[in-house]
Amino acid sequence: MGRVPGYVFEVDEDKCFGCGACIALCPVNVLDLVDRMIVVNEEKCTHCELCIPSCPVFALDIVEN
Ligand code: SF4
Ligand code: SF4
Repeated sequence: MGRVPGYVFEVDEDKCFGCGACIALCPVNVLDLVDRMIVVNEEKCTHCELCIPSCPVFALDIVEN
């Protein structure tokens, strides 16, 4: 699964509470905690979706841009 044109990896900032669970799942290390909020280096995200099921509050998704 690679990047799909027109789609972006998105963090729902209203849901993320900074547990950090998703960070360990990312094989290309593009997730970071900043002030208890996940930020993503979107251009380097491969859209592999591995991190998405790790989030207990469903804050991560790949959505149409
Ligand atoms: S979708 Fe894949 S590459 Fe992108 S942040 Fe999640 S685990 Fe990392
Ligand atoms: S797993 Fe979900 S709640 Fe936890 S840091 Fe990642 S995005 Fe935020």
